[in-house]
Amino acid sequence: MIETLGDVLRNNAYKFPNETAYNYHGRIVTFGEHLDRGNRLASALWKRGIRRQDRVSILSQNTIEFMESYAACELAGYIAATVNWRLAAPEIAYILGDSTPRVLIFEAQYAATIEQIRDKLGFIELFLCFGGDVPHWAEDYEMVLATGDADGAPTRPLPDEIMHLIYTSGTTGRPKGVIRTHRGEIAIAILMATELGLIVSDKLQLMMPIFHVGARFLQLGVHIRGGSVVLHHDFKPAEIVETIERERVTMTHMAPTMVQAMLNVPGIEERDLKSLHTICYSAAPMPVPLLKRGLKLLGPVFLQLYGMTEGGGTTLHKRQHKPDGTPEDIKRLGSIGQAAPNVGLRIVDDEGRDLPAGEPGEILINTTSRMAGYWNNSAATIAALKEGWYHTGDVGYLDPQGFLYLVDRKKDMIISGGENIYSREVEEAVASHPAIMDVAVIGVKDDYWGETVRAIAVLNPGHSATEAELIEHTKTQIASYKKPKSVVFVDDLPRLPSGKINKVTLRQLYGAAEPKAS
Ligand code: ATP
Ligand code: MG
Repeated sequence: MIETLGDVLRNNAYKFPNETAYNYHGRIVTFGEHLDRGNRLASALWKRGIRRQDRVSILSQNTIEFMESYAACELAGYIAATVNWRLAAPEIAYILGDSTPRVLIFEAQYAATIEQIRDKLGFIELFLCFGGDVPHWAEDYEMVLATGDADGAPTRPLPDEIMHLIYTSGTTGRPKGVIRTHRGEIAIAILMATELGLIVSDKLQLMMPIFHVGARFLQLGVHIRGGSVVLHHDFKPAEIVETIERERVTMTHMAPTMVQAMLNVPGIEERDLKSLHTICYSAAPMPVPLLKRGLKLLGPVFLQLYGMTEGGGTTLHKRQHKPDGTPEDIKRLGSIGQAAPNVGLRIVDDEGRDLPAGEPGEILINTTSRMAGYWNNSAATIAALKEGWYHTGDVGYLDPQGFLYLVDRKKDMIISGGENIYSREVEEAVASHPAIMDVAVIGVKDDYWGETVRAIAVLNPGHSATEAELIEHTKTQIASYKKPKSVVFVDDLPRLPSGKINKVTLRQLYGAAEPKAS
C-alpha cells in the first residue's frame, strides 16, 4: 500500500526497475537506479547522525542530485527543506535560519553565495556539494553517498510526518514555510494523476523549478503512475521545443511568460509537437491573446492550474478548448477553471458570509492535500486555516457553472476614494492597447484619494504610446474612476522565479508620489 512518498519509489523500482524515471539532458536514470542512490544517500546521512524529521536543505537548480536528495528524505523521513536559488544571499540566510537544517546539499554554483552567509549557518553540520569544485568547508556529495548502504537508513517515515518544508513565493511579503506531510503529498499526486488523466507512458517535461509546488506536484503525479520525467536544468526555449519533438514529450509545464517565449521560437509552426496532450500553466494570469495564439498553433492542449503552496498546488483546473466564438466561450478563456472533485470552494465577504455567483470575495479552499500549517508561525496558521478552510488571500467570483474567475489578490487591491479597484482589471484594460507588451498596476499613496492607480508599462518593440493616450484607452474599457492617474514606462517588469510580477519591488521602485522613470 502506498502511504508515503518512499512507498512510491519502492513501488516503481519493483514494478518498473528498468524504465526511465528521469531523462536529464540525455542521461537516463531508471527507477531501479533512482531507488538505489536514494537509499544510499539516506543511509550515508543516517551514518552521519541525521535522524527522522531533521531538516535537509537543498539549494540547486533542477538536477538529478536534487531528485536524489528528495528521494533520501522520502525514504528515511528526513524533511526536505527546499530553497529558491534565485534569492539573494540574505534571503537565503533568512530561509535557512527559519528551517534550521542539519544538512545543506548544494550545487557548486552556489558556493560563493553560501560563503557570504556561512557565519549565520552554525546549525548546519554537513555541507554536501556537487556539480563543480567543492569548497574546503564542504564535502563531496558523491563521496559521501558512496559510504551509504543499498538497504537505506534503518527508519521510515509515518504518513502524517512532515515530508516537505516549502517556502511560498514571497509575493506578498516574506516567504512562509509551509508544512506538507506525506499524506498531503500522496493526495496531491493522486489528484494530479486522475485529473490530468496520466498513464504509465506519460513523459512530463519539467523546467519549472522543482523546489516549487507546481513542478513538484506534477512530478509526483507522473511518478505515482510510473511515467517518466524529462528534466531540464533550466529554461531555454529552443532546447525545450527540440526536446518535445525528439523525446515525444506528452506533457509540459510553463509559466505564461515561458509559453510566450516558446511560441516565439523561430520556425515553431514547422515543428511536430503533436505528442503533447497537455501544456500546463499556472502561477500567473495568461493574457487571452497569447492563449488564443497558442490554441491556434497547438490545439486545445492548454490546461490551467490554480493553486498555492498552502492549498495543495492544484485546487482547480480547466482544459482550454478552442473557443467557438460565442461571448460566453471567449470569456471562459479567462477563467481559472472548476473545482477538482476533492476540493471544497467558497467565496466569502469580509464577515465570512458566502456570496452568490457573480460577486467577488475571498476564495476559501478545503482539501485533503492542503498544508498542515506554517513552520514556526502558529499565529499565521490560525489566521490562514480558520475553521478548517484555507483563506487564500485571493479575490475571485464564480459563474453559475462553478467556473472561477480570479479578480485580484486582496493585498493588490487599490482603494481610491472609497472604491475598490482590482489591479488585475486595470492591467487587462491597459494591456488591451496594441503598444503594450507587459503591464502592472499598483496603488500610490495620496492625501486626498487615499490611493491612486499607477500603471508600470513595457512597450512592444517598435511601438510607442504616451501616458495620456493609454489613460484615454483605459477609459474605453473600464469605469473612469479605475483608470490610471499616471503611467511609468520601463524596459522590464521585475518577476519572481514563478513568473509572477514582483509587486513588492515595484511598489518600492515606483510607489512614491513622484517616481523616477527608468
Ligand atoms: P506569498 O504567499 O509568499 O505572498 P505566493 O502566494 O505568490 O507568495 P505561491 O503559493 O507560490 O506563493 O502562489 C500561490 C498564488 O499564486 C495564489 O494564491 C494566486 O494568487 C497565484 N496563482 C496561482 N495560480 C494562478 C493562476 N493560474 N493564475 C493566476 N494566479 C495564480
Ligand atoms: Mg500566498
